[in-house]
Amino acid sequence: MPQLPVRKEVVAHAELNIAIAGAGLMGRLLAWRLSTEGYRVSLFDAGSLDNPSGACHTAAGMISPLSELFHCPLPIYELGMHSLQNWPRWVAQLEQEVGVSVDYRQSGSVLVAHPQDRSELLQFQQELTAKLGGAGGDQLRWLDSRGLSALEPELDRFEQGLFLASEADVDNRKLLPALLQAVMQNGVRLYEHTAVECAPNEVLTARGSEAFDLVIDARGLGANGAIHGLRGVRGEVMVVETAEVQLQRPVRLLHPRYQLYAVPRANHQTVIGATEIESEDMSPISLRSSMELSSALYSIHPAFAEARVIETRVNCRPATMDNLPVVESEPGLIRVNGLFRHGYLLAPALVLQVEDALSKLTQETEQVT
Ligand SMILES: Cc1cc2nc3c(=O)[nH]c(=O)nc-3n(C[C@H](O)[C@H](O)[C@H](O)COP(=O)(O)OP(=O)(O)OC[C@H]3O[C@@H](n4cnc5c(N)ncnc54)[C@H](O)[C@@H]3O)c2cc1C
Repeated sequence: MPQLPVRKEVVAHAELNIAIAGAGLMGRLLAWRLSTEGYRVSLFDAGSLDNPSGACHTAAGMISPLSELFHCPLPIYELGMHSLQNWPRWVAQLEQEVGVSVDYRQSGSVLVAHPQDRSELLQFQQELTAKLGGAGGDQLRWLDSRGLSALEPELDRFEQGLFLASEADVDNRKLLPALLQAVMQNGVRLYEHTAVECAPNEVLTARGSEAFDLVIDARGLGANGAIHGLRGVRGEVMVVETAEVQLQRPVRLLHPRYQLYAVPRANHQTVIGATEIESEDMSPISLRSSMELSSALYSIHPAFAEARVIETRVNCRPATMDNLPVVESEPGLIRVNGLFRHGYLLAPALVLQVEDALSKLTQETEQVT
């Protein structure tokens, strides 16, 4: 991996030596933020850095606090809204540093249902209003067929839909390499194919142990055993390609049996997903899942029938028993995990929580010494 020159402004905090275990989404974002603030950072990953094996690589990259609130408790929404305040600024800074776009898009998302499933849209609205009060209703806009056609011309066969204007998405296949490039520019020490165990002030590898002022455990499912009740939840997605259907933003199909999202990407590609199966099986996508995803997509627009399947992806989301994220800290060690199906939605808010825990630990250490 080529070494890049270290940016000159990375000078403050240089005395604090931090190890980050896991170069998935959390590990990369933390390494970038902390190295930008001037901490001396080492980043370890069990796999390849250029071709990550974590859930971050499989994900669709949606940043959708309202859509997720339908299935999730309020803290996910609140953390997600906090993240949404930070993503645009962080992405602008990252893109400037690396000179590459990561296709962050805040164009909202659209929810549709077939006429026979119209109650799904009403139920969605009721759930949001129940959880958010009047503020929930204010964040949704009902669209009739004319409104839908104006916003998403390809959805003109639907009679109704909901528009969630604040939602965003990012192309994770562009964000992850951009973060890697930025941390290299910041002088972060990188260790790939290096599985580690985490202990306070210490990282243990097959070769021995290395001491650090602080260790941050961001190993996702790799931290199994270190985080109470951590489990993997299998998710399958497909990537299809066609120039015949041009969606402008993520579209979700509400259906009593299948939940489908379609996230348009550059080069006429669309990421469709995702299954959610209580299993840690990482084997390839099942025929059943691929049929359900494909037929749900086909029901959004028949021209998807001729789309080419260019990739299938399977991974397990790292989840806690209550599906909420955890940031645990003790002297010399912070663990951040349980991002479940919300990594991109929650990561900036959790990075800020880790930074908060870090400054508290630093203050405590200063008082002791
Ligand atoms: C199908 C699917 C779709 C998804 N879609 C979305 C979405 O649209 N929006 C959203 O917000 N979230 C989505 N997610 C969830 C998101 O991908 C995860 O929440 C996120 O990737 C978790 O980030 P992480 O860094 O904690 O873990 P990971 O991304 O899994 O990264 C963990 C890293 O730790 C490394 N590691 C493991 N063990 C060790 C070890 N012992 N030593 C060193 N390194 C180790 C791994 O190699 C990996 O690189 C989706 C997930 C899936 C599976």
